Amino acid sequence: MTAPTLLRDLTPDQQRQRDALVALLVAALIFGVGPLAAAILAARIAAWRDTASAIYADLGIDDDPPDPDVPTLQAEALQTAHGIAATWRRDATAAATALATAYLLAHGTLHGARARLTRELHGWARDHAAWKAAQVANAETGDAAHAATLAALALVRAGSTDFAGDPQALTVTVWPDTAAEPFCSEFAGKTYPASMASSIGPFPAHPNCLHYVAVNS
Ligand SMILES: [Zn+2]
Repeated sequence: MTAPTLLRDLTPDQQRQRDALVALLVAALIFGVGPLAAAILAARIAAWRDTASAIYADLGIDDDPPDPDVPTLQAEALQTAHGIAATWRRDATAAATALATAYLLAHGTLHGARARLTRELHGWARDHAAWKAAQVANAETGDAAHAATLAALALVRAGSTDFAGDPQALTVTVWPDTAAEPFCSEFAGKTYPASMASSIGPFPAHPNCLHYVAVNS
């Protein structure tokens, strides 16, 4: 097994220059973790409230739906933001390194590379951010909605609401009813007694998982 042609062809001096440029390019792409955590928190709170309200409305409950525990959601949002930032930095560094290496091999120097690599890296960032953002939004709102479903069900089942039906007869169903992932296909489309809700999933179970637990009215 020989070293990849691209890396073998670079001198140590060229590699140092390349890595310095990569660090500069990546630093220009990095966003603050604080604003990201704030956006995630807002999305989680909205999803939590929407889900709890929808369940109460579907069950004909007039009481105010439960509120999320904001400090918990805040801590989770910050942790998620740090994870996303670390992944983003790693992916951006790999992309910038590949672009700078290709430039070096084609031109033998990095002179004049910065403007072009900045442009190319912004193109990469735009494409990468589009699918990454959708993935993060799905995971964050899905996670909060799942927690809200369990919290609302716990209150209804405990008899703490004006629900007119029999709380012990409530059931839940996992939607959508088909799944590509083996984990999700065990649950997809199945109906369970509400007492089992906390042992289903949790969903979303993987990146881009669309499954969720719905309370049947
Ligand atoms: Zn799934």
